[in-house]
Amino acid sequence: MARTDAIVLGAGIVGTSVALHLVKRGLSVALVDKRGPGEETSYGNTGVIVGASVFPTAFPRSLKKLIQVALKRAPEANYHWRDLIRVAPWLVSYFNFSTPEKLKDSAVKLRPLMSRSVAEHKALLEESGAMKYLRETGWITLYRSDAAFEAMKPQLEFGAQIGVAAQPLDTQGTLALEPSLNPVFRHALMWPDVASLSNPLMVTRAYAARLAALGGVVIKGDARSLHRADGKWRVDTDSGAIDAENAVVALGPWSDLVFGPLGYSMPFAVKRGYHLHLAALGNAVLHHPVLDADQGFVLAPMSRGIRLTTGVEFAGRDAPATPIQVERALPKAHKLFPLGEPVDARPWKGARPCLPDMLPVIGKAPRHPGLWFDFGHQHHGLTLGPVSGRLLAEMMTGEKPFADPSPFAVERFG
Ligand SMILES: Cc1cc2nc3c(=O)[nH]c(=O)nc-3n(C[C@H](O)[C@H](O)[C@H](O)COP(=O)(O)OP(=O)(O)OC[C@H]3O[C@@H](n4cnc5c(N)ncnc54)[C@H](O)[C@@H]3O)c2cc1C
Repeated sequence: MARTDAIVLGAGIVGTSVALHLVKRGLSVALVDKRGPGEETSYGNTGVIVGASVFPTAFPRSLKKLIQVALKRAPEANYHWRDLIRVAPWLVSYFNFSTPEKLKDSAVKLRPLMSRSVAEHKALLEESGAMKYLRETGWITLYRSDAAFEAMKPQLEFGAQIGVAAQPLDTQGTLALEPSLNPVFRHALMWPDVASLSNPLMVTRAYAARLAALGGVVIKGDARSLHRADGKWRVDTDSGAIDAENAVVALGPWSDLVFGPLGYSMPFAVKRGYHLHLAALGNAVLHHPVLDADQGFVLAPMSRGIRLTTGVEFAGRDAPATPIQVERALPKAHKLFPLGEPVDARPWKGARPCLPDMLPVIGKAPRHPGLWFDFGHQHHGLTLGPVSGRLLAEMMTGEKPFADPSPFAVERFG
């Protein structure tokens, strides 16, 4: 029987960061995943370390937008009819948390983590020899209509209060930064404190390699085998069973497969999303990730090409892919930037792990000794992986946490 201080379940950016922070604090750690590090949601995202954003991604509250979503005409959202009834109570709760006042509350609670997100990534990137993937160039959000830009005003005003910088750009100013864009937009914002990664998969792999170099073990196994045995946590892996005092559930969109059978009930849902890589046409270059706010997609320059990522799809986590949002976005994306042929045979599908209050769950499981949670980072898991890994590792080792962890406690769900 192998023994270790902590088993971390899930080798996405969140679990890998927790494991690395624990090893750095002197614990022996086994990082367990059924796949290789970073190969699921932490691979397919837009790569933006979006710590300098204001509000978390909210449920639309304008009647026009709600009708568009209901009629499946909103570019940023889609849903499967058969999953709607199951997810309806969650959507009501999400809608209720999306009022301007509650959004401000969530933004303030997240701020200590968001504001440290780039610094915490940089610390891990440096020690993992992966700085080459980091771009501290900001990101650009585009608005095709005056109305979409006007709708940003409350966010910008609140952002100024909490220290988030955004610079309005006119078309010429935007083209000076991104000369290959076609001016199909009327307004833009440059968020200078946002960073991005050119290859999120390689970054998680680099953090896992650093973990191994410091003595941690990265091992294949099924997290659903977690159980209590001889007063410890035990998980079955390809190399046999491992026992530990502590177990961390960091399974992203699969976290409910472990916390559910242990008796924890949380309003947990997934928001699916897609990406497709395309070649840039001719000499066209994209220097920053660019959000087309009206059309609900992002173009992000990545190692593999220009990655087009989509908004939200409400559907079963494992239901077949329905990449209609990619199809809808493609003609608009071609008009925005000179795109060539797709590089991928088909769109990639992933799922953002979400709680309706738009905050992750980070902390101790109240009814089981040595059980810890770190999941539900929704649209910001790549951003928050290292910083939430540090916060949880500090809690687990009895250090004074650098930020108040109480907003992220599981007890907030009663
Ligand atoms: C289209 C899209 C764009 C996004 N863009 C951004 C962005 O720009 N910036 C940002 O900050 N965030 C972004 N996100 C969100 C971000 O990608 C996620 O929040 C984050 O990757 C979640 O990380 P994780 O480690 O919790 O989950 P994951 O990366 O999914 O890791 C969970 C791990 O658990 C493992 N696992 C599952 N079941 C088992 C089992 N039974 N046994 C063992 N292992 C198991 C999986 O193999 C996986 O490796 C985006 C998401 C999507 C879908």
